[in-house]
Amino acid sequence: MRDTLTTTPHAASMTLSQWYLACSVCNRREPADAGVGLCPDCQAPYLAHLDGPVPDRGKIGSRWDMWRYGPALPVDSPDDVLTLGEGCTPLIESSSLAEWVGVRRLWIKDEGVNPTASFKSRGLAMSVMRAKARGVSGLVVPTAGNAGAALAAYGAAAGVPVRVYAPDTTPAPILGTVRAMGVELVTVPGHIGDAGRLAMAFAAASGYFNVATLREPFRVEGNKTLGLELVEQLGWRFPDAVVYPTGGGEGVIGIWKAFCEMKEWGWVSADAQLPSLAVAQATGCAPLVRAWIDGLDRATPWENPVTHAAGLRVPSPLGDRLVLRALRESRGSAAAIDEESISAATLLLASGTGIDAAPEGGCALAAARELVRAKRISAAGEVVVFNTGSGASYRT
Ligand SMILES: *Cc1c(COP(=O)(O)O)cnc(C)c1O
Repeated sequence: MRDTLTTTPHAASMTLSQWYLACSVCNRREPADAGVGLCPDCQAPYLAHLDGPVPDRGKIGSRWDMWRYGPALPVDSPDDVLTLGEGCTPLIESSSLAEWVGVRRLWIKDEGVNPTASFKSRGLAMSVMRAKARGVSGLVVPTAGNAGAALAAYGAAAGVPVRVYAPDTTPAPILGTVRAMGVELVTVPGHIGDAGRLAMAFAAASGYFNVATLREPFRVEGNKTLGLELVEQLGWRFPDAVVYPTGGGEGVIGIWKAFCEMKEWGWVSADAQLPSLAVAQATGCAPLVRAWIDGLDRATPWENPVTHAAGLRVPSPLGDRLVLRALRESRGSAAAIDEESISAATLLLASGTGIDAAPEGGCALAAARELVRAKRISAAGEVVVFNTGSGASYRT
């Protein structure tokens, strides 16, 4: 399969046979198409790795969706991908928000304009494509909301049956999107952890494949395009800092993997300094911020998680070790923001830019300001804040 590396004008891609999976703790290896969950020895996530020629930045496609980065992704054929037009989202500079945050330059990366109104489109487009190629009978996911909407849409696009488990407190417009795709929706009293237990039991009983955050390695590969795209939009330059509203951790892990790979592959100049990562969480559910402040490499479960930023209501993030490792490697930082300040910053983000900000984006903006004031992010730098979802998903 090695010689099937194509040079079509669309995108040249590494074939799946050049990829393998490795446990993020013990490095236990599995073939890329093994369809595994967590490592049986460590109960830790697998990540996908390329074991082939270094991808060529010049082979990026001319297509206008995340599959333009086919050369960096586990894709069989660039012309045979599952797409609803995910990725290629706006990067918008705001001088008024830069002033409010207290930095030289500030950019908002607006993920709310993705097909299912959040960055979850990227990861699930990739994982549904990979799962379909293995011939799964169905797909199941526990979700705080947006991952369910994305799985429903990509399941519909791929013609694969889907079941979604979501808390009954999930914003109504998001549940409405899941229902509109005609998939099975089970609402659950409690939080995403409770939904996760039910999804696992259902997967075991039905044979459906569970694509929960980091239980499935290809969502991270889709999320890598967050970082690849950002750096291309900046003219193949790294920003100084990236602030990401973090729940399970898959977004921030994907971005960090992309930054490290770009550096390793020579996609940015050899002396480019890797950005520092900042994790934003809500004070009502901040297991990663707590672990970071306590200097730990694992998070302990958050009791009684409460926040209106639904995507951040993840009390036991499976990606804890990887997120905390990325924070250490990037000389990063973390901040927790209270509910009132999240609301105020969400309004400021929207009214200052015209972007339909989600509360998660507001949380990241407020965290950027707090971390600049605490001198954890340099005021002289260039900062990118991710608005990970759409405000429309939260209006009832
Ligand atoms: C899922 C989600 C998050 C958190 O992302 P993780 O990858 O789980 O850390 C943040 N914002 C929104 C809008 C989300 O849907």
